[in-house]
Amino acid sequence: MEKHKILVVEDERSLVEVLSYNLLREGYDVITATDGQDGLRKAQSALPDLIILDLMLPVMDGLQVCRELRADPRTSSIIVLMLTAKSEEVDEIVGFSMGADDYVAKPFKVKPLIHRIKALLRRPQQEQTSADVVSAQGITVDRIKHQVSLDGQELVLTPTEFKLLWTLTRHPGRPFRRSELMDICRGEDANALERTIDVHIRSLRQKLLAKADLVETVRGVGYRLKID
Ligand code: CA
Repeated sequence: MEKHKILVVEDERSLVEVLSYNLLREGYDVITATDGQDGLRKAQSALPDLIILDLMLPVMDGLQVCRELRADPRTSSIIVLMLTAKSEEVDEIVGFSMGADDYVAKPFKVKPLIHRIKALLRRPQQEQTSADVVSAQGITVDRIKHQVSLDGQELVLTPTEFKLLWTLTRHPGRPFRRSELMDICRGEDANALERTIDVHIRSLRQKLLAKADLVETVRGVGYRLKID
């Protein structure tokens, strides 16, 4: 079996040492970086399976690194485990604006962290087998062919609707903020207002016909793909 590769981005050197030691002992390949920019560069060149990403980092903070990772198709599906100092930042980090897959608050014990890593790597990541096709709830989005189908019926979407549906379908059940969806759709319309997202979502729902309610409104947050 191929070894999983883990990138540790953390500026506290003693913590880097402890993590590296334990991860190596668990049989992982380990790469390390001590600032955000170096971490991002190493993520892009080494394409690890998982990144342990500290939130507070010199040069570029963890949120910015995460944002850059998610915006780049080569790195967008890498699992990100965020290390946070303050628990109140958690809502911001997980599920919301920056797209970390999980978080661990400092100070933490190494053993539970390793457990968490194992669970994350075991999780069926559709992206790991095929980064270009995702499906959930009867919706299939193929970003290479640029095709979307709903229960086998092809849908014709605008580029923005396509990006929205791709994003929601990749992470069923995860709420996305309007601001986050805007970031994802940028490039289509750099000056998009938050309400523009609502307009795109409304139009997307119309195209989903009887399944329009698969795109759920999360009050005070934004939208998500419904899960059963
Ligand atoms: Ca730090």
